[in-house]
Amino acid sequence: MYIRVNARDNVAILVHPEGVAPGALLPDGLVARERIPQSHKIALHDLAPSQPVLRYGQTIGFANRPIAAGSWVREELLDMPAAPPLDALSLATAIPPTLLPLENYTFEGYRNADGGTGTKNMLGLATTVQCVAPTVEYTAQRIRAEILPRFPNVDGVVSITHSYGCGVAIDAPGAAVPIRTLNHIALHANLAGQPLLVSLGCEKLQPTRLFPGDFPGGFPILGEGNVIRLQDERGFGESVAAIMRAAEKRLVELDRRRRQTVPASELVVGLQCGGSDAFSGVTCNPAVGYAADLLVRAGATVMFSEVTEVRDAIHLLTPRAATVGVARDLIREMRWYDDYLARGAADRSANTTPGNKRGGLANIVEKALGSIAKAGSTAIRAVATHGEKVTAKGLVFAATPASDFICGTQQLASMNLHVFTTGEGSPYGLAMVPVIKVSSRTALAEKWADLIDLDAGRIATGHATIEEVGWELFRLILDVASGRRQTWAEHWGLANTLAPFNPGPVT
Ligand code: CA
Repeated sequence: MYIRVNARDNVAILVHPEGVAPGALLPDGLVARERIPQSHKIALHDLAPSQPVLRYGQTIGFANRPIAAGSWVREELLDMPAAPPLDALSLATAIPPTLLPLENYTFEGYRNADGGTGTKNMLGLATTVQCVAPTVEYTAQRIRAEILPRFPNVDGVVSITHSYGCGVAIDAPGAAVPIRTLNHIALHANLAGQPLLVSLGCEKLQPTRLFPGDFPGGFPILGEGNVIRLQDERGFGESVAAIMRAAEKRLVELDRRRRQTVPASELVVGLQCGGSDAFSGVTCNPAVGYAADLLVRAGATVMFSEVTEVRDAIHLLTPRAATVGVARDLIREMRWYDDYLARGAADRSANTTPGNKRGGLANIVEKALGSIAKAGSTAIRAVATHGEKVTAKGLVFAATPASDFICGTQQLASMNLHVFTTGEGSPYGLAMVPVIKVSSRTALAEKWADLIDLDAGRIATGHATIEEVGWELFRLILDVASGRRQTWAEHWGLANTLAPFNPGPVT
């Protein structure tokens, strides 16, 4: 059995876990000419040199030698096409019609003074600089063990530690990216927008630089008692005690908060894939795309990201922009990243990993065409640049690198729930938001039954449809956002280190 996505396709991917053996008879009289592993591509027709190889109805490469029907279409048989030129794209020419609104879907969330809604109620210990990170992490452990048990309505204590804050060219244009990311993360909805801030004292990223403006909701983050400056304290013991005293006062306030019923439109869901394979684009990503459409219909915000994974599909996205201005913003982000990679003597082909290739993805073009399926079918309403907080409703492109832990960190500037699709598998998780993991293959969901939250591989085997898995995911999102169900990453406490994107120079 194989999956052909589009009637124009001249390759298909193999579904059987064992792949096929030479001589195996496939539908339409096709005979496998060699052993081909699961999720890899088989040629449906004879292909001549330089003939386009089509998947998703799009050119994923050009045959660089004759390929007979039934052959394994491997990476080395394909020459990669050039990326779509950015100056010849159609702008807002095929704006999808607005879908029927979905009403009366709600979840139980925490309303914040700044207008945001949390899916958790946590104490945040924000930091200006890496130098204070071990002290803050040590103190967070003590708070969890010694104070938190007295505050049952608080879900946890999170230390927002990172590798930024000093030894960097802080006036360089690129510095704005990590600084605004850390600003938005510190004011995150799941921290009630009210963190404590731990500073060293001599660092380049001074508290007033991290929080230069007015504070949403009127919370005076730099006010009396909210900032602990370690160089003002007497030794390690007093530093820890000062943070613990401030934490206890804040926990008293957080413990009074209760979940309340809020419309699903309060969700800001970040979508990401990691460890993708050739099934990702036909199972988990389209199911996530269907759920994305449901969320958009319910009035929520859905972010898709990962510039290098949309770059080769940008010609399919700019027509879907809600306005010409949004289409131009998409192009601006593609161009910025093209230039960024060129400065590092790289291009988007550096994206694919050995795991992607083992999973049957020949190149970044094929990966990108599968990746954008997460974005569903609605109009792209807005574009956010790196680390910017998304305020628009509907489908939004939030520019980030594709690196899982950097993308997740950047999306944390805005999202209150994360959906992560994977083919090869990743135990990824974040401390501040629930991460729902969706597998592309049933074999992975079975092997990692205590890590994968939803199996979209049932779509490939005909046991479920894209629509069914999409609805399951939508309902799971509402349950997880309400605290009614825990993801596996929450269950095990899996929390990847925050990794803000720093395109600026280090000194
Ligand atoms: Ca990724």
